Amino acid sequence: MNVLLLAVDTLRADHLSCYGYRRPTSPALDRFAREGVRCSRFMAPGIPTHPSFTTLFSGQHPIRHGVVAQGGKTDLNGRTPTIAQLFLEAGYHTASFDNLWNHKPHFGRGFETLVDSSRRRGCGLMVMCEEINTRVLQFLKQRANDPEPFFAFVHYWDPHTPYWAPQKYRSLFYEGDPCDPSKASLEPLYAHPLGSRWKDTWLKTVTKDLGYPEGRAPTDADFVTALYDQEIRHIDDGLSAVFETLDATGLAENTLVLVLADHGECMTEHGIYYDHHGLYDENLHVPLVARLPGQLPAGESVDALIRHLDLLPTLCEACGLRTPEEIDGKSAWGLWTGSRRDEVLAERLVSAECSWQMKWALRDERYHFILQRQPDWYGSPPRELYDVRADPGLTRNIADERPEVAKELESDLEGWISDRCKTLGLAGDPLVAHGISMMDPMLRKSAAKEARA
Ligand SMILES: [Zn+2]
Repeated sequence: MNVLLLAVDTLRADHLSCYGYRRPTSPALDRFAREGVRCSRFMAPGIPTHPSFTTLFSGQHPIRHGVVAQGGKTDLNGRTPTIAQLFLEAGYHTASFDNLWNHKPHFGRGFETLVDSSRRRGCGLMVMCEEINTRVLQFLKQRANDPEPFFAFVHYWDPHTPYWAPQKYRSLFYEGDPCDPSKASLEPLYAHPLGSRWKDTWLKTVTKDLGYPEGRAPTDADFVTALYDQEIRHIDDGLSAVFETLDATGLAENTLVLVLADHGECMTEHGIYYDHHGLYDENLHVPLVARLPGQLPAGESVDALIRHLDLLPTLCEACGLRTPEEIDGKSAWGLWTGSRRDEVLAERLVSAECSWQMKWALRDERYHFILQRQPDWYGSPPRELYDVRADPGLTRNIADERPEVAKELESDLEGWISDRCKTLGLAGDPLVAHGISMMDPMLRKSAAKEARA
């Protein structure tokens, strides 16, 4: 059996039609979900990209692997086997179609073949799925007649900013004048210390490409949301090309295919515009769909909480690999196959955010609690508490109304952090030690000033 991991950066679950979105953004993924298992509560223990993918590759929570920040000071230690190393030592051919290993070598560890399609055009994370697929489809066709099984990882970037899909997608999901002077829904973005820079960058390029005079910026937030949705429709076509090749080569029959994301994106929610800042569901809740004909049921939904750190043990069980001892996850394979349908992998989710903000979150069935270690970019209070059942969008902070609940969750969270630090031999919270490496001191000062106001 082969394993193909298709990761789409910055893809929030609730903007996919198979996760209930109002727009038809994902016809190919919808069909794929009808042939496999759709996990309705797949949540990230760490954001942004580097922490999340390190967790996926190691089965470890960010507090254990230490890669808590984007481009931070820590790399995954050499003793921790990556998922690719485990497949390699089990006799699989291993291949990665990704560019993260340019920044952090551990993302390339264990892969026999490393293909960075962005190098050809020097475009970094602006590399498009068509470019990546040139190599991926070629690889799949080559492997189809090879008796040696493969493990392949593909990382697409299309829904990441700048959202600007190819021409054929640009008329989707929006009608009207994006620069209508009577609209002001993007004013908060332009007034924000982070957003004011964006007005002069990709958003202006977009309106220029649409034929507006130089310097005009969009005024309508719905327009930018449509741009994001166009990129989702774009990557859906990219996934469709892979699915078609799997069908045409016969690989679909004996390949476990997973589609997932590292983190999501805020569109305007919580006052956060077009970035993955904040430990809210827009960023934490991402898609996970698994398909393996004959072994996984078709069209099932698994509603248990599953985290990125559960995927390594899941794949180990599915493929009979050794499961390393130092991991934090549990296998979801029994949930997917139905052999352990009622298993609970985790009662609670502890998530960390680092790089541009420094936060922890604790989520159980009832509450979502967020604790910040320093003032953030958005003037958020130091503690946020949401009633997940009554307020699934996490829109009303009830930390002051329910101080006893907030206090109890804070104490649980701090207890969890200090226990882990003690067990792992850490001097203190790794977010504090590594978290501000990417922060622009001027903007940090400005955010702190706003938070005090
Ligand atoms: Zn990412």
